[in-house]
Amino acid sequence: MRARVNPEQCIACGVCVDTCPEVFSLESDVAEAIDGDIPDELVEATKEAAENCPVDAIELSD
Ligand code: SF4
Repeated sequence: MRARVNPEQCIACGVCVDTCPEVFSLESDVAEAIDGDIPDELVEATKEAAENCPVDAIELSD
């Protein structure tokens, strides 16, 4: 699974970073997800971050 943050939607609230700091970071005015496949042990936390994002800016794909 891969994750991407849509920069047009992200409001930089930090929820995804709080939920899964191994995958998401917030070093500019929008969050970013790591490149490439999410490690298996982080998939659930990544999905939780996507569900918790208040503006649905996190896109998950296979
Ligand atoms: Fe951006 Fe959503 Fe992460 Fe908040 S939870 S920083 S809006 S991607």
